[in-house]
Amino acid sequence: MIRGHELSGFGGAIKNLGMGCTPGAGKLRQHRTVNIEIDQTKCIGCGKCKENCEMNLPEIIEGKARNTSNLCMRCPMCKHGCPMEAISFVNQENICRALASAAFGVLSTFKANKVSFVSFAKDITPNCDCLPFPGEVIMKDVGIFASNSPVSIDAAFLKMIDYNVFNKASSVDCMLQVQEAKDIGLFGEIKPKITTLS
Ligand code: SF4
Ligand code: SF4
Repeated sequence: MIRGHELSGFGGAIKNLGMGCTPGAGKLRQHRTVNIEIDQTKCIGCGKCKENCEMNLPEIIEGKARNTSNLCMRCPMCKHGCPMEAISFVNQENICRALASAAFGVLSTFKANKVSFVSFAKDITPNCDCLPFPGEVIMKDVGIFASNSPVSIDAAFLKMIDYNVFNKASSVDCMLQVQEAKDIGLFGEIKPKITTLS
């Protein structure tokens, strides 16, 4: 399934390989390549971020939120709960690159030309559906994509839609992970030949 993603812009075949096929520790490491910042000048110490976090991680110290936990997985729940827009993610390009590297590692465990990809682009939400509230559906039914290349299948999807919707929602260029995957050696085309079935 293709979904938007708060940190990497979108998640398709590359993300499902890099994140979906790696163990929990690997997932956490990839998420934590992104940094979280709490603007202390905006924070009013209300604690909504702590309430929204499933692990109650942000601490309220002297009326200001702090987040120094090694367990923080950079999900957007605290950010979404903050009424002052004091919480932001920075260096999101890092997770795009980490996804591509992890996808390369996963695919290297298979024999060449023995893997195919099918992506269902349906009922697409702006955020990952592992979150309790992935957001309202922004694309209803784009179609089903198939390829023997994770680069080509993700590029084909992004070229079929206006992917600025994802870029605006996440503040990162979602094509970055696709370009990075190609640059580090995952085969496939950024401008794939697209054949549609009627
Ligand atoms: S990013 Fe997620 S895990 Fe980290 S503090 Fe915020 S809600 Fe909790
Ligand atoms: S929700 Fe926002 S304003 Fe309230 S404590 Fe957390 S960071 Fe500060």
